[in-house]
Amino acid sequence: MVERRDELLALLAHDESEVRWRADTMRAQVPPSGPISTLSARPAAPVAAGCCLSCGDPLPTGDRFRCTHCVRAAWRVLRAARGQPSGAWDGNG
Ligand SMILES: [Zn+2]
Repeated sequence: MVERRDELLALLAHDESEVRWRADTMRAQVPPSGPISTLSARPAAPVAAGCCLSCGDPLPTGDRFRCTHCVRAAWRVLRAARGQPSGAWDGNG
């Protein structure tokens, strides 16, 4: 485990980067008040079959509508919109 520390840290940093840009795009779609519509990481992008409805990236096996990065980003944005801290759990479990 110790010998793979740098590899794990790089994976975590990449994962956080993927969630962060999606959350930044989704955050801009949250109105100051009222209902929040479906959040999308790439709102204008066409969606191909088998791809995430939010970002358009190919979906891994087992994901039906949104990729894990988009789910985590949406949870992060919605929790912040409700005034809740993001906490350790952000829709990943
Ligand atoms: Zn996605």
